[in-house]
Amino acid sequence: MAEVTEVDVVVVGMGPGGEDAAGRLAEAGLDVIGVEAGLVGGECPYYGCIPSKMMIRAADALAEARRVNRLAGEAKVRASWDPVAARLREATADWDDKAAADRFTDKGGRLVRGFGRVSGPREVTVGERVLRARRAVVLNPGTEPVVPPIEGLEGTPFWTNREAVKTTRAPESLLVLGGGPIGVEMAQAFARFGTRVTVLEGGRRPLSREEPEAGDLVAQVFEREGIAVHTGQKAERVGYSDGRFTVEAGGRSFEAERFLVATGRKTDLGRLGVAKIGLDESARTITVDERMRAADGVWAIGDVTGHGAFTHVSMYQAAIAVRDILGQDGPPADYRALPRVTFTDPEVGAVGLTEAQAREKGLDVRTGCTPLSSSSRGWIHEAEGFIKLVAAGDELVGATTAGPAGGEVMSALAVAIHGRVPVSALKHMIYAYPTFHRAIETALAELK
Ligand SMILES: Cc1cc2nc3c(=O)[nH]c(=O)nc-3n(C[C@H](O)[C@H](O)[C@H](O)COP(=O)(O)OP(=O)(O)OC[C@H]3O[C@@H](n4cnc5c(N)ncnc54)[C@H](O)[C@@H]3O)c2cc1C
Repeated sequence: MAEVTEVDVVVVGMGPGGEDAAGRLAEAGLDVIGVEAGLVGGECPYYGCIPSKMMIRAADALAEARRVNRLAGEAKVRASWDPVAARLREATADWDDKAAADRFTDKGGRLVRGFGRVSGPREVTVGERVLRARRAVVLNPGTEPVVPPIEGLEGTPFWTNREAVKTTRAPESLLVLGGGPIGVEMAQAFARFGTRVTVLEGGRRPLSREEPEAGDLVAQVFEREGIAVHTGQKAERVGYSDGRFTVEAGGRSFEAERFLVATGRKTDLGRLGVAKIGLDESARTITVDERMRAADGVWAIGDVTGHGAFTHVSMYQAAIAVRDILGQDGPPADYRALPRVTFTDPEVGAVGLTEAQAREKGLDVRTGCTPLSSSSRGWIHEAEGFIKLVAAGDELVGATTAGPAGGEVMSALAVAIHGRVPVSALKHMIYAYPTFHRAIETALAELK
């Protein structure tokens, strides 16, 4: 006989949103079980945001040091991956989640280790144990790297982000399959440590979901930094022998010591068992309403909802789901001002709609774009980048801010979009001199 445990709430998957929701609900006095098959905290702290940004921070330090010779004297730079590997080990406690697990149980929650499968309405089974939720089941299964069915790939020691962040040395050469945010961030980080990097991207440019100007800028900077970017390339065959990968794409053959597959993320809804609550197992995402409700007594949050695979989305949705489960009032989900940042150098910040998305929606679109050099600080820093604004009527609906600290500059425009600040009001505010964000004023003047 299976052991049955009744609780108020079962949270399946303890990614950033799941951990946050489970902790808050436990703190509110509910009896909460969090189910986790891997590491409490999910992808972000162990294999995603934190380790990748630590790699990038180190790579940026090298790039900045290399600018000394041009700007401020002489600096000899010898890159070493050792401090990066050491910091990553420390930041992830050597990929151990004890601190995160304790953080949750200290709030009164109970942790069940194992893979949770939805086995009925408000019911989750973990191994032989059945968990029944009186009030709510929260699904936060996150995503896993997609491994495309390329001939010869299976069985080779290819990397996904999970292996890449665990490496103890920068490889001599690296082929990156996929020019999305994960691919380009890793490509530039390793290249700055001396790795010879080639990016193979299936689309016309890297960062294909963002404004075309952003992808073109990244491709241009990569070329100058010695990172080869081949667009319109689909890998057809992979070979591995004597410690080297050979990848055939578009009639050409590419060779490298390491092969990083960064071709997107997926969730296996069949394995999660969502058909038991009437949801489509073959879908890519779980559809939720504006309060994160997916089915009767079931809420879903995070990457699996398809509203943007970002930690901030997962946490934002967790807060909404928690309020709803506790019967508290609060605003429903609103993704108009969804921000995202690709942490390349130049950094690409973006919020809301791209021009193409705004046109697809049939909006009466006006755009304004200015190079960062139009601001004095951009000129002083010899900064590459731009600010592009997308407006409909007297309201901004999207913006892209590429350049130094592009993600930080973007926040001003995120506030404008979130708060529906009229363009006419933005045109008449004071922008501090000399800042990168002063280019916003020029881009506003360019709106047509
Ligand atoms: C290389 C990389 C860099 C990234 N950089 C950024 C960034 O800079 N900024 C940003 O906002 N986002 C970034 N992301 C995305 C970010 O990591 C995710 O959006 C974030 O982790 C939120 O995911 P989530 O809450 O949906 O769940 P996840 O973090 O995916 O966690 C889900 C958890 O659920 C567990 N699980 C799954 N199914 C079950 C089950 N049935 N039973 C029990 N446990 C289960 C998994 O083991 C996992 O621990 C990055 C991702 C990667 C890969």
